[in-house]
Amino acid sequence: MKNKRTSILIIYTGGTIGMIKNKEGVLLPFNFDNLLNFIPLIDEFDADIESVSFEKPIDSSNFNPGLWAKLVNIIGDNYEKFDGFVILTGSDTMAFTASALSFMFENLKKPIILTGSQLPIGLLRTDGRENIIAALELAALQKNNEPLIQEVCIYFENNLYRGNRTHKYNTENFDAFISPNYPILAKAGTNIEVFEDKIIKSKLDFLITHTNLCNEIAVVKFFPGIQVKTISAVFQTPDLKAVILETYGSGNAPTDTDIINVIKDNIKKGIIVLNLSQCQAGNVQQGKYATSLKLKEIGVISGKDMTTEAGITKMMYLLGQNLPNKKIEKLLGLSLRGELSDEESKY
Ligand code: ASP
Repeated sequence: MKNKRTSILIIYTGGTIGMIKNKEGVLLPFNFDNLLNFIPLIDEFDADIESVSFEKPIDSSNFNPGLWAKLVNIIGDNYEKFDGFVILTGSDTMAFTASALSFMFENLKKPIILTGSQLPIGLLRTDGRENIIAALELAALQKNNEPLIQEVCIYFENNLYRGNRTHKYNTENFDAFISPNYPILAKAGTNIEVFEDKIIKSKLDFLITHTNLCNEIAVVKFFPGIQVKTISAVFQTPDLKAVILETYGSGNAPTDTDIINVIKDNIKKGIIVLNLSQCQAGNVQQGKYATSLKLKEIGVISGKDMTTEAGITKMMYLLGQNLPNKKIEKLLGLSLRGELSDEESKY
């Protein structure tokens, strides 16, 4: 029996890849038909490709949970029809979008690959053309009649990353992303090499989509000199449900009693507090130093080796499920979509 041709849906949201400069030299998103005109060889690609575009393409700085839900609905509605999905979006919030989508799709069995570029596709030296073509090739890979890649990923400058492990670390380099705590899933050189043992395979076949995210959350980034009144003001935000502390090193924070008391009182009131490190690589280990022991004692949850992008979107996803706080706190420390390394740790 001849295998059917693979089919891929491209979803264009905006971002530099499709931008042009206006008279003042400012980059603005433009229309999708133009964008594909810049890749004439796309017609020779050995897969059926269809595309949809946001009616009004955006700079990814304008992404929000409502637009993530819109992406989930587009993919959910087309899930049976296509073998894979490539989302063209801006790199600025791509790590957030990839992380959010990873939680919003449960039991995913098809690839969702986000890509974009640092230079618009209309420029000679653009990185956009290679990024789109390689993302399509990766999304079209099949093994035993099923997609080889079955998770939400980012493809950028030769590397395929698990989306919820990424962080945009460079505003200028073509390789704008890092995945400090998880190895790459595939590498595109003269050949495409896929590291299959690193890819998640869902055992369950029925896709569940979640579009209800709760963004009643805040992030407090510690710096030497941060004032109690500032931290306290954040915790007084109306309707607040959770706070992410961006701490130093392996999860350390000032031991100032006033600061600790603000956090402690709010945890008692039902605010969930998650500890993520300002460091890009390594783990939060509450209790390793005296400066994190207090946080552990008052009920702050360790975010282990999650990125801030994964921690924020995981929190929005879990709060959106209307679960009891105890359950949310438990799930925050467990790997739901490969976003953290949850092997036993004494911390
Ligand atoms: N500002 C752009 C965006 O995120 C940057 C990019 O696409 O790389 O939409």
